[in-house]
Amino acid sequence: MTTAALGELLLSRSLDDPELLAASEAAPQTRILPDAHVLKIGGQSFIDRGRAAVHPLITELLAAREQHQLLIGTGGGTRARHAYALAAELGMPTGVLSDIGSAVAGQNATMLGHLLAKYGIPVVAGGAMASLPLKVAEVGAAVFAGMPPYDMWQRVPAEGVIPPYRTDAGCYLVAETYGCKSMIFVKDEDGLYTANPKTDPAAEFIPEITVDELIARDLPDLVVERPVLDLMRHARFVREIQIVNGLKPGLLTRAVNGEHVGTIITAGAR
Ligand code: ADP
Ligand code: MG
Repeated sequence: MTTAALGELLLSRSLDDPELLAASEAAPQTRILPDAHVLKIGGQSFIDRGRAAVHPLITELLAAREQHQLLIGTGGGTRARHAYALAAELGMPTGVLSDIGSAVAGQNATMLGHLLAKYGIPVVAGGAMASLPLKVAEVGAAVFAGMPPYDMWQRVPAEGVIPPYRTDAGCYLVAETYGCKSMIFVKDEDGLYTANPKTDPAAEFIPEITVDELIARDLPDLVVERPVLDLMRHARFVREIQIVNGLKPGLLTRAVNGEHVGTIITAGAR
Protein backbone atom coordinates (compact mmCIF):
# COMPACT_ATOMS: atom_id res chain seq x y z
CA MET A 1 0.00 0.00 0.00
CA THR A 2 1.53 3.31 -1.07
CA THR A 3 0.96 6.65 0.60
CA ALA A 4 -0.87 7.74 -2.55
CA ALA A 5 -3.27 4.78 -2.29
CA LEU A 6 -3.92 5.50 1.39
CA GLY A 7 -4.39 9.17 0.56
CA GLU A 8 -6.95 8.20 -2.06
CA LEU A 9 -8.86 6.06 0.43
CA LEU A 10 -8.77 8.80 3.04
CA LEU A 11 -10.31 11.25 0.62
CA SER A 12 -13.01 8.94 -0.64
CA ARG A 13 -14.04 6.70 2.27
CA SER A 14 -15.35 7.04 5.77
CA LEU A 15 -12.69 6.90 8.48
CA ASP A 16 -14.30 3.66 9.72
CA ASP A 17 -13.93 1.95 6.35
CA PRO A 18 -12.22 -1.45 6.88
CA GLU A 19 -9.96 -1.16 3.82
CA LEU A 20 -8.90 2.31 4.88
CA LEU A 21 -8.18 1.13 8.42
CA ALA A 22 -6.02 -1.74 7.16
CA ALA A 23 -4.18 0.57 4.78
CA SER A 24 -3.46 3.06 7.55
CA GLU A 25 -1.35 0.44 9.28
CA ALA A 26 0.57 -0.76 6.27
CA ALA A 27 3.78 1.03 7.23
CA PRO A 28 5.85 -0.45 10.04
CA GLN A 29 5.08 1.34 13.30
CA THR A 30 7.74 3.47 14.93
CA ARG A 31 8.86 2.94 18.49
CA ILE A 32 9.38 6.39 19.96
CA LEU A 33 11.24 5.50 23.17
CA PRO A 34 12.27 1.89 22.55
CA ASP A 35 14.82 1.77 25.37
CA ALA A 36 12.61 3.17 28.12
CA HIS A 37 10.96 1.08 30.81
CA VAL A 38 7.68 2.27 32.31
CA LEU A 39 7.38 1.55 36.03
CA LYS A 40 4.02 2.04 37.69
CA ILE A 41 4.45 2.67 41.39
CA GLY A 42 1.23 1.62 43.10
CA GLY A 43 -0.67 4.16 45.15
CA GLN A 44 -2.64 2.10 47.64
CA SER A 45 -0.30 -0.86 47.36
CA PHE A 46 2.98 1.01 47.60
CA ILE A 47 3.29 4.79 48.09
CA ASP A 48 0.67 4.83 50.86
CA ARG A 49 3.05 2.71 52.94
CA GLY A 50 5.15 5.83 53.26
CA ARG A 51 8.80 6.04 54.13
CA ALA A 52 9.31 2.31 54.77
CA ALA A 53 8.35 1.47 51.19
CA VAL A 54 9.31 4.64 49.33
CA HIS A 55 12.87 5.24 50.59
CA PRO A 56 14.24 1.82 49.55
CA LEU A 57 12.44 2.29 46.22
CA ILE A 58 14.28 5.58 45.62
CA THR A 59 17.61 3.82 46.14
CA GLU A 60 16.62 1.10 43.71
CA LEU A 61 15.33 3.54 41.09
CA LEU A 62 18.57 5.53 41.22
CA ALA A 63 20.64 2.38 40.78
CA ALA A 64 18.46 1.18 37.88
CA ARG A 65 18.77 4.58 36.21
CA GLU A 66 22.52 4.02 35.84
CA GLN A 67 21.79 1.46 33.14
CA HIS A 68 18.21 1.99 32.04
CA GLN A 69 15.83 4.74 30.98
CA LEU A 70 12.93 4.91 33.40
CA LEU A 71 9.50 6.49 33.06
CA ILE A 72 8.06 6.40 36.57
CA GLY A 73 4.25 6.66 36.78
CA THR A 74 2.35 7.04 40.04
CA GLY A 75 -0.92 5.58 41.27
CA GLY A 76 -3.53 7.32 43.39
CA GLY A 77 -4.41 5.08 46.31
CA THR A 78 -6.21 5.56 49.57
CA ARG A 79 -6.74 9.31 49.21
CA ALA A 80 -8.27 8.77 45.77
CA ARG A 81 -10.53 6.05 47.17
CA HIS A 82 -11.69 8.32 49.96
CA ALA A 83 -12.43 11.08 47.48
CA TYR A 84 -14.26 8.63 45.16
CA ALA A 85 -16.43 7.52 48.09
CA LEU A 86 -17.31 11.09 48.96
CA ALA A 87 -17.92 12.14 45.36
CA ALA A 88 -20.05 9.06 44.66
CA GLU A 89 -22.13 9.71 47.77
CA LEU A 90 -22.63 13.27 46.60
CA GLY A 91 -23.91 11.96 43.26
CA MET A 92 -20.95 13.03 41.13
CA PRO A 93 -20.54 11.46 37.67
CA THR A 94 -17.58 9.37 36.51
CA GLY A 95 -15.94 12.31 34.73
CA VAL A 96 -15.73 14.26 37.97
CA LEU A 97 -14.32 11.24 39.82
CA SER A 98 -11.72 10.94 37.06
CA ASP A 99 -10.55 14.51 37.71
CA ILE A 100 -10.38 13.80 41.42
CA GLY A 101 -8.31 10.64 40.87
CA SER A 102 -5.90 12.59 38.63
CA ALA A 103 -5.30 15.09 41.40
CA VAL A 104 -4.25 12.37 43.84
CA ALA A 105 -1.96 10.60 41.35
CA GLY A 106 -0.49 14.08 40.82
CA GLN A 107 0.13 14.47 44.57
CA ASN A 108 2.07 11.22 44.58
CA ALA A 109 4.06 12.28 41.52
CA THR A 110 4.85 15.58 43.25
CA MET A 111 6.16 13.85 46.37
CA LEU A 112 8.16 11.25 44.46
CA GLY A 113 9.50 14.00 42.21
CA HIS A 114 10.70 16.08 45.15
CA LEU A 115 12.45 13.05 46.64
CA LEU A 116 14.21 12.53 43.31
CA ALA A 117 14.85 16.22 42.62
CA LYS A 118 18.38 16.35 43.96
CA TYR A 119 19.32 13.59 41.55
CA GLY A 120 18.03 15.72 38.68
CA ILE A 121 14.92 13.63 38.02
CA PRO A 122 11.91 15.85 37.22
CA VAL A 123 8.14 15.45 37.25
CA VAL A 124 6.48 16.01 33.91
CA ALA A 125 2.79 16.80 33.73
CA GLY A 126 0.15 17.97 31.28
CA GLY A 127 1.52 19.59 28.14
CA ALA A 128 5.06 19.08 29.47
CA MET A 129 4.67 15.35 28.73
CA ALA A 130 6.00 16.39 25.33
CA SER A 131 9.36 17.03 26.99
CA LEU A 132 9.52 13.50 28.42
CA PRO A 133 11.97 12.30 25.72
CA LEU A 134 14.28 15.23 26.47
CA LYS A 135 14.25 14.54 30.20
CA VAL A 136 14.91 10.85 29.63
CA ALA A 137 17.78 11.64 27.28
CA GLU A 138 19.26 14.16 29.73
CA VAL A 139 18.86 12.47 33.10
CA GLY A 140 17.67 8.95 32.31
CA ALA A 141 14.37 9.17 34.16
CA ALA A 142 11.21 11.21 34.71
CA VAL A 143 8.16 10.94 36.96
CA PHE A 144 4.58 11.37 35.74
CA ALA A 145 1.14 11.03 37.30
CA GLY A 146 -0.32 7.75 36.07
CA MET A 147 -3.95 8.78 35.58
CA PRO A 148 -4.81 9.13 31.87
CA PRO A 149 -5.99 12.70 31.19
CA TYR A 150 -9.54 11.71 30.24
CA ASP A 151 -10.95 14.09 32.86
CA MET A 152 -14.66 14.62 32.22
CA TRP A 153 -14.34 12.58 29.02
CA GLN A 154 -13.56 9.40 30.96
CA ARG A 155 -15.59 6.41 29.67
CA VAL A 156 -18.65 5.73 31.77
CA PRO A 157 -18.48 2.14 33.10
CA ALA A 158 -21.23 -0.46 32.66
CA GLU A 159 -21.85 -0.40 36.38
CA GLY A 160 -21.25 2.23 39.03
CA VAL A 161 -19.36 5.51 38.70
CA ILE A 162 -15.71 4.57 39.38
CA PRO A 163 -13.53 5.59 36.40
CA PRO A 164 -12.52 2.33 34.65
CA TYR A 165 -9.30 3.73 33.12
CA ARG A 166 -7.18 4.70 36.08
CA THR A 167 -3.46 4.73 36.76
CA ASP A 168 -2.64 1.14 35.67
CA ALA A 169 -4.26 1.88 32.30
CA GLY A 170 -2.67 5.34 32.11
CA CYS A 171 0.85 4.01 32.68
CA TYR A 172 0.28 1.13 30.29
CA LEU A 173 -0.89 3.53 27.57
CA VAL A 174 2.27 5.62 27.98
CA ALA A 175 4.36 2.46 27.52
CA GLU A 176 2.40 1.37 24.46
CA THR A 177 2.26 4.79 22.80
CA TYR A 178 6.00 5.36 23.20
CA GLY A 179 6.73 1.77 22.15
CA CYS A 180 8.68 1.19 25.35
CA LYS A 181 10.81 -1.81 26.17
CA SER A 182 8.79 -2.98 29.16
CA MET A 183 5.85 -2.23 31.44
CA ILE A 184 6.37 -3.18 35.06
CA PHE A 185 3.75 -2.74 37.77
CA VAL A 186 5.31 -2.31 41.20
CA LYS A 187 2.84 -3.42 43.88
CA ASP A 188 2.80 -5.10 47.30
CA GLU A 189 2.13 -8.70 46.26
CA ASP A 190 4.35 -11.16 44.38
CA GLY A 191 2.07 -10.85 41.34
CA LEU A 192 -1.27 -12.26 40.24
CA TYR A 193 -3.10 -14.88 42.30
CA THR A 194 -6.29 -16.80 41.64
CA ALA A 195 -7.99 -14.39 44.08
CA ASN A 196 -7.02 -11.41 46.22
CA PRO A 197 -4.39 -12.89 48.57
CA LYS A 198 -5.26 -10.29 51.21
CA THR A 199 -8.77 -11.66 51.63
CA ASP A 200 -8.48 -15.26 50.38
CA PRO A 201 -5.82 -17.39 52.11
CA ALA A 202 -6.38 -20.17 49.54
CA ALA A 203 -5.37 -17.89 46.66
CA GLU A 204 -2.70 -19.49 44.44
CA PHE A 205 0.12 -17.67 42.69
CA ILE A 206 0.04 -17.54 38.88
CA PRO A 207 3.58 -16.98 37.52
CA GLU A 208 2.57 -16.57 33.88
CA ILE A 209 -0.71 -16.36 31.97
CA THR A 210 -2.04 -15.07 28.68
CA VAL A 211 -4.58 -12.28 28.44
CA ASP A 212 -7.08 -14.64 26.81
CA GLU A 213 -6.69 -17.27 29.54
CA LEU A 214 -7.01 -14.63 32.22
CA ILE A 215 -10.18 -13.17 30.72
CA ALA A 216 -11.60 -16.69 30.31
CA ARG A 217 -10.89 -17.53 33.95
CA ASP A 218 -13.01 -14.55 34.97
CA LEU A 219 -11.26 -14.26 38.36
CA PRO A 220 -13.22 -12.42 41.06
CA ASP A 221 -10.56 -9.72 41.38
CA LEU A 222 -7.30 -8.83 39.68
CA VAL A 223 -4.00 -7.21 40.59
CA VAL A 224 -4.23 -4.83 37.60
CA GLU A 225 -7.18 -2.85 36.29
CA ARG A 226 -9.25 -5.05 34.00
CA PRO A 227 -9.24 -2.60 31.03
CA VAL A 228 -5.45 -3.09 30.78
CA LEU A 229 -6.19 -6.60 29.46
CA ASP A 230 -8.31 -5.20 26.64
CA LEU A 231 -5.69 -2.59 25.83
CA MET A 232 -3.07 -5.35 25.60
CA ARG A 233 -5.13 -7.30 23.10
CA HIS A 234 -4.85 -4.45 20.62
CA ALA A 235 -1.31 -3.42 21.48
CA ARG A 236 1.29 -2.99 18.77
CA PHE A 237 4.31 -2.98 21.06
CA VAL A 238 3.75 -3.75 24.72
CA ARG A 239 2.24 -7.22 24.54
CA GLU A 240 3.63 -8.29 27.87
CA ILE A 241 3.47 -6.79 31.35
CA GLN A 242 5.04 -7.90 34.59
CA ILE A 243 3.68 -7.35 38.11
CA VAL A 244 6.37 -7.40 40.80
CA ASN A 245 6.55 -7.05 44.56
CA GLY A 246 8.30 -3.75 45.18
CA LEU A 247 8.46 -4.44 48.91
CA LYS A 248 11.02 -7.17 48.27
CA PRO A 249 14.35 -5.45 47.61
CA GLY A 250 15.95 -6.14 44.26
CA LEU A 251 12.92 -7.50 42.41
CA LEU A 252 12.21 -4.25 40.58
CA THR A 253 15.85 -4.09 39.43
CA ARG A 254 15.75 -7.70 38.25
CA ALA A 255 12.51 -7.08 36.36
CA VAL A 256 14.03 -4.06 34.59
CA ASN A 257 16.95 -6.33 33.68
CA GLY A 258 14.46 -8.62 31.92
CA GLU A 259 14.16 -11.31 34.57
CA HIS A 260 10.90 -13.05 35.39
CA VAL A 261 10.43 -12.31 39.09
CA GLY A 262 6.68 -11.76 39.42
CA THR A 263 3.69 -12.51 37.21
CA ILE A 264 4.04 -12.05 33.47
CA ILE A 265 0.81 -11.50 31.52
CA THR A 266 1.23 -11.87 27.76
CA ALA A 267 -1.02 -11.06 24.83
CA GLY A 268 0.83 -13.37 22.44
CA ALA A 269 1.83 -12.51 18.88
CA ARG A 270 -0.32 -10.12 16.96
P1 ADP B 1 -2.30 0.13 43.05
O1 ADP B 1 -1.71 0.53 44.35
O2 ADP B 1 -1.29 0.03 41.94
O3 ADP B 1 -3.53 0.87 42.66
P2 ADP B 1 -4.12 -1.90 43.81
O4 ADP B 1 -4.13 -1.76 45.30
O5 ADP B 1 -5.25 -1.33 43.04
O6 ADP B 1 -2.74 -1.37 43.25
O7 ADP B 1 -3.96 -3.41 43.37
C1 ADP B 1 -3.05 -4.25 44.00
C2 ADP B 1 -3.81 -5.09 44.99
O8 ADP B 1 -4.71 -5.90 44.30
C3 ADP B 1 -2.98 -6.05 45.78
O9 ADP B 1 -2.44 -5.41 46.90
C4 ADP B 1 -3.98 -7.13 46.14
O10 ADP B 1 -4.47 -6.98 47.47
C5 ADP B 1 -5.16 -6.87 45.21
N1 ADP B 1 -5.62 -8.02 44.43
C6 ADP B 1 -6.89 -8.20 44.05
N2 ADP B 1 -7.03 -9.31 43.33
C7 ADP B 1 -5.80 -9.86 43.23
C8 ADP B 1 -5.30 -11.01 42.57
N3 ADP B 1 -6.09 -11.83 41.87
N4 ADP B 1 -3.97 -11.27 42.66
C9 ADP B 1 -3.16 -10.46 43.37
N5 ADP B 1 -3.57 -9.34 44.00
C10 ADP B 1 -4.89 -9.03 43.93
MG1 MG C 1 -5.35 0.27 41.67
